[in-house]
Amino acid sequence: MIFILSKYKRVETGGALVGYYSEQAIVIIHATGPGPRGRRTATSVIVDGEYTTEFCHNLNQLSDGYLYYVGDWHVHHKGILVPSFLDKKASKILIESKASPIPCIAYLIFSTNMENVRAYNMSLETQDEVEIKKCLTPEWVLDFL
Ligand SMILES: [Zn+2]
Repeated sequence: MIFILSKYKRVETGGALVGYYSEQAIVIIHATGPGPRGRRTATSVIVDGEYTTEFCHNLNQLSDGYLYYVGDWHVHHKGILVPSFLDKKASKILIESKASPIPCIAYLIFSTNMENVRAYNMSLETQDEVEIKKCLTPEWVLDFL
């Protein structure tokens, strides 16, 4: 992810998150960039849906369905690490379209320098900030890294 940010320093960037749901936590294993046809401006990023869908689908197939799309990440250049109106609208569309098999998605919002990040559990009704914990990679996931 650091490579992606340094390459596109002056524009917003982001992508999809792949992982799984376990014990009331969303576990994130992979993150994509915006994809080759992603559109990045100073204030927004529109990911290449075909690219991210294929990335998530491939990992889903390789893992026999254990890994799947669990959310999105992106950068906020203005330093306000809370979901914008458009972020909330986009997450509702993703949840309603059943992009993920779980009824909520993770949203990670990074500062430009990647020193700060906040995580949100986005559902149709709420957008709650949640704690981020690093954990050991489960052994069964090692085959899909
Ligand atoms: Zn945003």
